[in-house]
Amino acid sequence: MGDSDSEQLRSNTPNVLIHCDGCGHPSLLHAGMLQKPFSDPEESPNDTSAIGFACPHCKSLRRYFLHPQKQGQSRTGPGPAWASAPRNEETVLVGMLECEVESCEFLLPLFALWSDSTNDEERLADIETWQWENLRCPEEHVIRKPSD
Ligand SMILES: [Zn+2]
Ligand SMILES: [Zn+2]
Repeated sequence: MGDSDSEQLRSNTPNVLIHCDGCGHPSLLHAGMLQKPFSDPEESPNDTSAIGFACPHCKSLRRYFLHPQKQGQSRTGPGPAWASAPRNEETVLVGMLECEVESCEFLLPLFALWSDSTNDEERLADIETWQWENLRCPEEHVIRKPSD
């Protein structure tokens, strides 16, 4: 299976399935939205295609990798897999998170999944409920909630 095949797979399947590392809750996120921060090689936030995502069920904020699983590989366990399904939820890029260690320079795009019908106020209120203690950069440094 060559690179062109996996490209095809990518364009035909507009959603990424993430099982929460904390509670196992499945979330379908829009693949095009997730890849946006990585689409420009000059601006790419990190070279591991890692994203931060807050589980809508348990509110745990964790790091996930976007690389699709290889064919034939088990689909069990945490991590994204490519899938398609109907959805009425919006994948939103909330912002870029910085690693606590200044020399690390790791940037993590933070995503949330919200219903189409929620307004900004409801989304901000939801952000306040997120659990940050399990969020780490790939070097296992702590990533803290921005104090803005
Ligand atoms: Zn969860
Ligand atoms: Zn770091």
